Amino acid sequence: MHMRAGRRSCAIDRRSLPLAPRQNVKPSNARTIGAIALVTLTLASHVNAQSGSTTKQPSDPNMARALKVLSASPVMDGHNDLPWRIREDSVHPHDVEAYDLRKKTPGMTDLARLKEGHVGAQFWSIYIPGEKDDEAYKPNGLVSSTPGYARVQLEQIDIARRVIAKYPELAWTPTADAARAAMKKGQIASLLGLEGGHAIENSLALLREYYERGARYMTLTHNVTLDWADAALDTAKHGGLTPFGKEVVHEMNRLGMLVDLSHVSPGTMSAALDATEAPVIFSHSGARALVDHKRNVPDSILARVPKNGGVVMVPFVTAFVSAAVKADDDALEAATAESTKRHPKDPAAVKKEIAAWRATHKRPTATIKDVADMVDHVRKIAGVDHVGIGSDFDGITENVVGLEDVSKFPALFAELAKRGWTDADLAKLANGNVLRVLKDAETVAARLQKTHKPSNATIEQLDKRVKPKA
Ligand SMILES: [Zn+2]
Repeated sequence: MHMRAGRRSCAIDRRSLPLAPRQNVKPSNARTIGAIALVTLTLASHVNAQSGSTTKQPSDPNMARALKVLSASPVMDGHNDLPWRIREDSVHPHDVEAYDLRKKTPGMTDLARLKEGHVGAQFWSIYIPGEKDDEAYKPNGLVSSTPGYARVQLEQIDIARRVIAKYPELAWTPTADAARAAMKKGQIASLLGLEGGHAIENSLALLREYYERGARYMTLTHNVTLDWADAALDTAKHGGLTPFGKEVVHEMNRLGMLVDLSHVSPGTMSAALDATEAPVIFSHSGARALVDHKRNVPDSILARVPKNGGVVMVPFVTAFVSAAVKADDDALEAATAESTKRHPKDPAAVKKEIAAWRATHKRPTATIKDVADMVDHVRKIAGVDHVGIGSDFDGITENVVGLEDVSKFPALFAELAKRGWTDADLAKLANGNVLRVLKDAETVAARLQKTHKPSNATIEQLDKRVKPKA
């Protein structure tokens, strides 16, 4: 999930989401369309199995090679925000049945487009906002029960698991071996990635329960600094991880839950790399050397990834992959701040001034080449065994040109094929690296569980935090 700079509140971000009205298809029609889609998919895969290639032979030899590689080694994407997209749907919020993946959805993800994109495995993000004033945490119901992080987190796990259970095209795969087996059968292996650590409410028991419910990675923070970890886009209060934060990492190692270092500060990245016994992931981060965005990873950290054995999964977030887009975001933020200073109590006047500003400042676009540059840079510093893809589809409000939705992954692989990537290297990028990392984390967990019981440590003990006086 990405929110533009200066938009601290998810509520603001949400209102800006261009949610297209959903097509009103009658149930009988919907079933027919679903059946036709299924027949088409079945036919396509039948032809694929016979010829070993797609039905349409692309004229571009690089695309032909990309499709050949992806047919054998489909994409395992590190980050897709479909569960939050379903929660936030403007017509049928929270409704797994209404948000029908057999039709073309108003978002970036559905079954036909996943198939077209050669997606073989997906970490579905179970994002929840870290901002306590977010609308997700407003009291609801007649008893005005106030949801906390854990409740909203469990609601998102419920949505994700119902989506996975609903479609036979998706397979619930909580291990690397299960994911591999499902991909071989032509299903989309589905795992959950918890974004971010506020969901555990400073309790290792909650962490363990999320593992039981299927969370196979946890992004240590989202955009807000926690009691035990610094976030990239917030104030650094701890110089990385507190002693409790390190215990969270140890417990994740023991469980076999991947430590995700996207969204955290460089200090937290460094402290987590020091503390972890298992390989880490960056589920959706680029390289700071190319685009100086706080959400990207400095070269000094990328250089440590080979020894750790982890993987950095490059996102399709325009401001992370294009310096021009990042500069435009910064300029817009500055112009908005100045205008707000001039009109502190007149949002309409600010809106008018910003519209005038935009009329003379054309919004730049990010391209597939920008994403390929990012992938190439991670490869250059961390190595070809430590790079992957973490699109952030359905968590972004603006797309890279040519990477509009989940059907477009092959276009990136074609660009890399053109740049000289071998078939073997493209296969590592697609799924080989991240599957290896997941398997290695499982091996570490099996070893640790022989000697370590679940941790009873508390933040009060480890960080010497006393409860504030009432
Ligand atoms: Zn995110």
